[in-house]
Amino acid sequence: MNERSILVVGGGIGGLATAIALRANAGFDVTVIEKQADLHSSVWGVGIIQPANAMRALDAIGCAEACMADGYGASEWGSMHDVDGNKIRDMKATKIAGADYPAMNGITRPRLHEILTARAIEVGVEVVYSTTFVSLEEDEHGVTVQASDGRERRFDLVVGADGVRSLVREHVLDAELRPHYIGQSAFRVNMPRLPEIDRILLQPGPGGMAGFVPIGKDLAYFFLNIECERDQRPKGDAIYPALVEKLEGFGWLTGRFRDEFLTADADIVIRPEESLISPAPWHRGRVVLIGDAVHTVTPHLGQGAAQAIEDGIVLAEELQRHDDFEAAFDAYTARRYERCKLVVDTCLAIAEWEKGQKPGFDNIAATNLVLDTLAQPY
Ligand SMILES: Cc1cc2nc3c(=O)[nH]c(=O)nc-3n(C[C@H](O)[C@H](O)[C@H](O)COP(=O)(O)OP(=O)(O)OC[C@H]3O[C@@H](n4cnc5c(N)ncnc54)[C@H](O)[C@@H]3O)c2cc1C
Repeated sequence: MNERSILVVGGGIGGLATAIALRANAGFDVTVIEKQADLHSSVWGVGIIQPANAMRALDAIGCAEACMADGYGASEWGSMHDVDGNKIRDMKATKIAGADYPAMNGITRPRLHEILTARAIEVGVEVVYSTTFVSLEEDEHGVTVQASDGRERRFDLVVGADGVRSLVREHVLDAELRPHYIGQSAFRVNMPRLPEIDRILLQPGPGGMAGFVPIGKDLAYFFLNIECERDQRPKGDAIYPALVEKLEGFGWLTGRFRDEFLTADADIVIRPEESLISPAPWHRGRVVLIGDAVHTVTPHLGQGAAQAIEDGIVLAEELQRHDDFEAAFDAYTARRYERCKLVVDTCLAIAEWEKGQKPGFDNIAATNLVLDTLAQPY
């Protein structure tokens, strides 16, 4: 048992995975505070792509089997099709040496949160909802945290896992290091899993990059990545007609989705896409950042959550390896920076290509390069 105590701010995918790794793999006394009221309120969106490297990381915290049992394991990564459905190219699977993970496991976000939360509680993490921090005051021996529930507590270290709008980031990074909107937003909506949706399917068309992801035996989600100004995103009742309009001209599966499955009362999520890769250091004193708080990842490679989970595992390993927490934080950042930068930069390149700003760019070769690189150990 490690006697040091760690506060994780944010009970999202990265925060919960980090808490499990710190507790189960390194023996720390770990508390998670999450500002939302319960595990479901903190889940935005429909489903999540878990590439093979995400499965390896989930395995390291005891969650891979449950994800595979409740998700959809695809034997191939995917394929790309034109507006009429003609296959343009296959997208190959990347194997992790010595392991038998699917090329991609799709799962609903609510189920992933249930699995991570149950595992965190099982290994002895304290998870506190409806709570954030009011102040973090660091001294030579620890951090005093004034929580929004009125409690004042001491911790040895604090992990900021509070996502794209991180407040912990203000304690660590310079003010100009903030995520920026990349000029794209994504519609997503669940639909039945048609037999063709047995891998990621991409269908670029006039309204944007459409696609399908299997996330269960009978469930899939449709997405459309569009170019738009941040303040031009449709809201409320305007979302459904805007999506219908964007899908004009699509045949094949996207046309079928529009005509058979998309209804005015569908639960359509639209999210802005933001990006950040902060240079080192990713910590200041006893406070360190993981996940979207320090490297905000757009959806183009399905890697944001995977990178947040890998962060947590590497952080736990380095804290176990070094008595000096600053040395551990430096080692953690050194192991993570290039990997996360590759993901963030490649996503931006794919986004530019989707917006027509990068003619001749090979999005599939770029995707393969990232997946092959990430198949190497973290
Ligand atoms: C449209 C879209 C699709 C995506 N699809 C995929 C995908 O298929 N696969 C993939 O791997 N990645 C995907 N991503 C990226 C992925 O969602 C993120 O990279 C990932 O969720 C980051 O995890 P995180 O834990 O760092 O942040 P989050 O998941 O955002 O979690 C942050 C948590 O902190 C809480 N919080 C925030 N502020 C505070 C506070 N002050 N106090 C306490 N709690 C706080 C929040 O409520 C939240 O629960 C997608 C992103 C977008 C935008």
